[in-house]
Amino acid sequence: MDSDPHSTLPAGTTSPRRIAVVGAGRLGRALAVALQDAGIDVTGPLGRGATIAPEIDTVILAVPDAQIGPAAAALPADRPDLLAGHCSAATTLEPLARREAFSLHPLMTVTEDGAAFAGASAAIAGSTSRALATAQALAHALGIQPLSVEDEDRAAYHAAASIASNFLVTLEGVAERLAASAGIDREPLVALVRASVENWAASGAGAALTGPIARGDEQTVQRQRDAVAERVPQDLALFDVLTQATRRLAASDRRPHDRPTPHPARRRGRSRSEGRMKIVRSIAGLREQLDGPRRSGQRIGLVPTMGALHEGHLSLIRLARAGCDVVVVTLFVNPTQFDDAADLDAYPRDEERDAKLADEAGADVLFAPPAEAIYPPSFATTVRVAGITAPLEGESRGVAHFDGVATVVTKLFNIAQPDVAYFGQKDAQQVAVIRRLVRDLDIPVRIEVGPTVREPDGLALSSRNVRLRNGERERALALPRALRAAREAVGRGERDSAAIAERARAAMADVGVEPEYLALVAPDSFTAVDRVDGDDVLVAVAARVGDVRLIDNDLLTTAPANGHADTSTGRP
Ligand code: AMP
Repeated sequence: MDSDPHSTLPAGTTSPRRIAVVGAGRLGRALAVALQDAGIDVTGPLGRGATIAPEIDTVILAVPDAQIGPAAAALPADRPDLLAGHCSAATTLEPLARREAFSLHPLMTVTEDGAAFAGASAAIAGSTSRALATAQALAHALGIQPLSVEDEDRAAYHAAASIASNFLVTLEGVAERLAASAGIDREPLVALVRASVENWAASGAGAALTGPIARGDEQTVQRQRDAVAERVPQDLALFDVLTQATRRLAASDRRPHDRPTPHPARRRGRSRSEGRMKIVRSIAGLREQLDGPRRSGQRIGLVPTMGALHEGHLSLIRLARAGCDVVVVTLFVNPTQFDDAADLDAYPRDEERDAKLADEAGADVLFAPPAEAIYPPSFATTVRVAGITAPLEGESRGVAHFDGVATVVTKLFNIAQPDVAYFGQKDAQQVAVIRRLVRDLDIPVRIEVGPTVREPDGLALSSRNVRLRNGERERALALPRALRAAREAVGRGERDSAAIAERARAAMADVGVEPEYLALVAPDSFTAVDRVDGDDVLVAVAARVGDVRLIDNDLLTTAPANGHADTSTGRP
């Protein structure tokens, strides 16, 4: 073995004397040029099976992964001294096992114009110390930083590289298409992309994140989603998946000073791992927690939930985080609003998981009382909202359902005395009932409504979805499909409620689901409407799929959108 002829190589590394590059694709051509520029004697790029001259001591197989084995087998059998290397990220040294071998996978995009290898990194490996030293020397000559990647980590390393490069380009393609629909070309996006990448390079993903999701501005996200659905519907699923992933990133990595309303407790700098959220179980304990903040004029936001938290709940917590100084999430599976004991028994419960998610989404206090704290033995009062509670959910589940909701929500308002309470449009009738309750009883709280959060295929998130078995999950799409059919009918000019409802029912029947109800009603009063003309109309649907009862709704509008903060609805 020759000693290193390049004075610039680190001591102990080996530089090949003569290299052949096999494979005349982009990478082969780029490597041959770059190695030549580095002063290395290179032959090629050669075609697979080409004669390897006797003076060649190293062959780089720059061929597709599946051809590495055959290309290695085509190397001269009478040259056992010939060192062979490949440039694949995902492949181990196994296909080159019959000789001394190395691999060098530059983490760099290669285009028809070549590649800028200098400054890049590359995963390298070698079956012997001579082979590894050769890979190191090649990396060094190309100005590449070597990385050591274990065989079992290669696929993950390669996937990370693909996401960082190929997927980014795919995303820019989507952005380009959407911008084009607004008459904007690629150029204005370029500076933005460069700045975002630079910020990520300097500070990491969590710190570099900006925009409406990071701010918790779900209303804006919803408007963006509507535009994507209308302009580039083929990219809607991608938008939804990325929205979810970005919400998770925003929740887990947001720095305190990125919060729209910096929270005093968080500004005091307790570290994430300490768990900043307090879990409180007693009414007195919650009042004590909130006393100080209330007296110092801080805004208190309340997010009532029954747990089994999902993105729908978390979006409300983020909305509260964005608008309030103190965010209280309640976790209470309210027995009085269940009309079906089996449903109550089967309701998913996992407080530890819920506490972690609520904390990550920005909650300060989790109020998780035992049932007897809310309903002591002598409890005798029921809050009943008349009229609006009678149809649809009231009829299906019985009056006791909304009595249970109205009573527990009134109690929670009295216990926490929030400035703002957050509810989901997913439970549209519940929202109408609570608005009426607050108005009738002069409860000093502002009600904010967050849009329905959905799976990429349109199914509204619900704690009960986990109980859907395989085929049922598919059939559950009957609900969002019905809502879409109703909207499309209105879009085509249909104004008659009965005809619109008929189209929606037909969409459900196509997948064998019979609605418990499907109705077009006024969103505030829940009285039936005959025509969709002018005022917004709510189309609401409930159906049982297997054992699981699901509800969903959408706002049908014939007037231009008013952009009002609390009437938005996630579009199925
Ligand atoms: P629950 O735990 O089912 O009582 O729901 C607690 C709150 O989350 C209610 O205000 C619901 O309307 C809201 N919510 C439930 N599912 C969703 C969803 N998919 N999108 C938005 N909000 C939701």
